[in-house]
Amino acid sequence: MADFDTIIIGAGPGGYVAAIRAAQLGQKVACVEGRETLGGTCLNVGCIPSKALLHATHLLHETHENFEKMGLMGAHPKVDWQKMQAYKADVVSGNTKGIEFLFKKNKVTWLKGWATIPAPGQVKVGDETHTAKNVVIATGSESSSLPGVTVDEETVVTSTGALTLAKPPKTMVVIGAGVIGLEMGSVYARLGTEVTVVEYLDAITPGMDAEVAKSFQRILAKQGLKFVLGAAVQSVTKGKKGATVTYKLKKNDSEASIDADIVLVATGRKPYTAGLGLEALGVEMGPRGTIKTDAHFQTNIPGLYAIGDAIAGPMLAHKAEDEGMAVAEILSGKHGHVNYNVIPGVIYTTPEVANVGKTEEQLKEEGRAYKVGKFPFMGNARAKAVFQAEGFVKLIADKETDRILGCHIIGPAAGDLIHEICVAMEFGASAQDLALTCHAHPTWSEAVREAALACGDGAIHA
Ligand SMILES: Cc1cc2nc3c(=O)[nH]c(=O)nc-3n(C[C@H](O)[C@H](O)[C@H](O)COP(=O)(O)OP(=O)(O)OC[C@H]3O[C@@H](n4cnc5c(N)ncnc54)[C@H](O)[C@@H]3O)c2cc1C
Repeated sequence: MADFDTIIIGAGPGGYVAAIRAAQLGQKVACVEGRETLGGTCLNVGCIPSKALLHATHLLHETHENFEKMGLMGAHPKVDWQKMQAYKADVVSGNTKGIEFLFKKNKVTWLKGWATIPAPGQVKVGDETHTAKNVVIATGSESSSLPGVTVDEETVVTSTGALTLAKPPKTMVVIGAGVIGLEMGSVYARLGTEVTVVEYLDAITPGMDAEVAKSFQRILAKQGLKFVLGAAVQSVTKGKKGATVTYKLKKNDSEASIDADIVLVATGRKPYTAGLGLEALGVEMGPRGTIKTDAHFQTNIPGLYAIGDAIAGPMLAHKAEDEGMAVAEILSGKHGHVNYNVIPGVIYTTPEVANVGKTEEQLKEEGRAYKVGKFPFMGNARAKAVFQAEGFVKLIADKETDRILGCHIIGPAAGDLIHEICVAMEFGASAQDLALTCHAHPTWSEAVREAALACGDGAIHA
């Protein structure tokens, strides 16, 4: 008899969701977590603390930019960085304790410590070896750096160090114009830091709809962020104060450098599987350090599964959560499934940026005939009322069938608006289905309906 039906290694959004769902489905479950608190990267040093800082600094930005326009007069608030950090810590702690509560409620055993897998069906934590019918690896990811760049988490930092700087710096270089770099860059730009983003590619946010990316860069530049694109970073050298980033411009091979108090290396993340003993077990690996799994999340070792950032696919908390639920269902004899065609992506800057499904660029490459319905937030009364009329909704539908293929939004609450499209896509809806649905006025979501109308006979307010 095994000690547990399922042992999950890692209590991030993949692992803790898998543990809760498996327990709800009647399994005896343990979840191993080496960190002091549950919730993984997402709750401790990722999604949640970054969103707390984005929220606080967005409100600060509003007081500077828009309060007087609305007749809200008075001194601008001063930033107490320690208090802002304490607020962020409270948000994190409230959320991680919430997971602890859910573990107790669902009778999930939390095995505290770092796990290894000495043999199939065994998980060793400290001196104790536990047995389970199935083991799920949900060990997530860690920041990746550039060759030759040494991170000290004080002057040269990853996102983890950037969340807890001693004080907002005067100058910051962000290496990498992806989601994390732009979110953290926005936080500090709003706090008065001079932020320069250095990116290897010729555009920001690789993979995003090109029109949205262009518009996004223009808006961020207006907010004070500087961009050096097409630049390959050669080195980051720490000085007595700050560091120097040297880069080579790809267009003419010329070299230049920038000094900054803080350098944030935001060049992506890589799966974290070190120390589990996967090599000795003979676990097959995929590209870029991912664990290879089949369509049911099983590795090549029977009874050993993997989910979340540790396997292929977008490194997103909600993708990990969906896989957590699906694997728990599969291990309980049900039919867990993740629809990878409908996984939204969101950037929580102001304006927010959100997308789901195909981009125009992808459809062109596939040779699929499509149509685009676009609606600017300038035509949305609510957006204009709150000074957030920049941006647009771009809905893409199949040219023949009108079936929605994708959506790209830059504008207010884009991260929430996108879910209307996700549901529509899950139901195989057409643009006309959205266009015929009554949307409350005045809401930002009217812009989504207008984009759907623009796929047909035309938007009303544009
Ligand atoms: C700054 C930042 C902002 C982000 N913002 C967003 C966002 O807004 N939205 C979004 O969707 N995603 C965001 N992400 C990505 C998101 O955090 C990850 O995709 C998500 O956390 C992955 O979940 P996971 O469960 O696979 O792994 P993780 O959350 O990384 O959790 C893995 C856990 O496993 C534990 N672990 C590892 N090895 C062992 C071991 N051997 N024994 C015991 N425990 C172990 C780790 O300590 C960790 O707690 C952000 C990431 C960062 C860094």
